[in-house]
Amino acid sequence: MPAWNEIAIEYEIDAEDSFVSIGGDWDAFAEKNGALGLTADCMLGKSLWAYVSGADVASLYRVLTNRVREIKRAVNFDFRCDSPDRRRWFHLIVTPLPDNCLRFYSILLKEEERPPVSLFDDVIPRSNELLTVCSVCKKVNYADSWIEVEDAVRRLHLLENEPLPQISHGLCCECYTRLLENLDCMT
Ligand SMILES: [Zn+2]
Repeated sequence: MPAWNEIAIEYEIDAEDSFVSIGGDWDAFAEKNGALGLTADCMLGKSLWAYVSGADVASLYRVLTNRVREIKRAVNFDFRCDSPDRRRWFHLIVTPLPDNCLRFYSILLKEEERPPVSLFDDVIPRSNELLTVCSVCKKVNYADSWIEVEDAVRRLHLLENEPLPQISHGLCCECYTRLLENLDCMT
């Protein structure tokens, strides 16, 4: 297993958006995050869209994949992929390949330990309430603004009100705008 500051995850999709190769440290990362059903072997041949959660995120990935194929040059941006006890900053590069294939390459830039955030723990029972988390920066939507998860837990008194709400994935305005700018989609 690589050191965490060297982790890199790489996958390619074909013109129909199915996984044709998955490599780098994917399996080690999936195992470390308890995502045992997400090993490379299980995902090959499946559609990228089966693994993108949230309508906002799916629409962003549609824009991203269409745009990279159209402009035929790589785009890159930073995103967070946290676990309950770690904040992780990744850099993603999406590169066009021949025949409308695309390569996604992510590298871990920085990792910080933190007291575990049970809101991000997949095995904890949930209520029917929904809380939206930005897929890119991991901020939480609270009273029309986007705040760090630790602030949200405090302000919403989440730990006093069990069970915890379910998480739905979306995009905050800042990330949405920044990503579209990166893709030259802004007029
Ligand atoms: Zn965001």
